[in-house]
Amino acid sequence: MAILLLLLLVAGGLFVSVLIDPPPGVLILEYHKVNDWSQDVYTVPTAEFTAQMDELLAQGYTTISLLDFLRAKKGKQPLPEKPLILTFDDGYMDNYTDMLPILEARGMKATVFMVTNDIGLPGYLSWNALKDMQERGIEIGSHTANHLPLTEMSPAEADNELRASKLIMEWNGIRTIFGFSYPNGKYADYITALLKKNEYLAAVTGEPGLNTMATNPYLLQRINIPRPRLGMTEFRFRLYKAAICARLGLWSHRQT
Ligand SMILES: [Zn+2]
Repeated sequence: MAILLLLLLVAGGLFVSVLIDPPPGVLILEYHKVNDWSQDVYTVPTAEFTAQMDELLAQGYTTISLLDFLRAKKGKQPLPEKPLILTFDDGYMDNYTDMLPILEARGMKATVFMVTNDIGLPGYLSWNALKDMQERGIEIGSHTANHLPLTEMSPAEADNELRASKLIMEWNGIRTIFGFSYPNGKYADYITALLKKNEYLAAVTGEPGLNTMATNPYLLQRINIPRPRLGMTEFRFRLYKAAICARLGLWSHRQT
């Protein structure tokens, strides 16, 4: 009986330490839209998003950019104790009108991955908004030119998507594009080779996990944050699940 009690105490202690210790790695969250008018699964309402940001700060997370992480991987700068990268795919206008003020009020950073042929279309970021966001500290990356799965086209077409999306943003005055997000999360070895050829330095997938210094920078893992159905309970559960799975080694880190 005493042994059983001891075992329970040890197990309980381990469980608590898993919950309160910083997760062993860089947490990258994946968002799309932040607004109060669209109702789809990709939209987090502004009040929920605000509460999520406050929760992350309360849990001790510090936002960094993708570039900060790459510099740290090369030993060129230290990372905060609980590093966090906020990412937004597709380049919706609400990232400028709704998301940015919430982050700025809290001194937080983010990275936005653009589909370049959608820039300026209704509901999507304009060139002016994009430039202003970059001036205000948001990191801009590519999510291709046309948002088509790269593995379902020829390597030459995929190469073109990577090259064209990078060049058109740089030609329009956006600073060097080095980060990339795979449309539909679809990737393959030859795609990562094409990213290197086109001078991208990192890419994010849609696969869950935490990232360490050993993670392949072209296969960074993200925790998806869809429209919450259970409010903050669901958000906290997603964070705890990430920390617990990483600590228990349930997610394999993709090595370089
Ligand atoms: Zn997308």
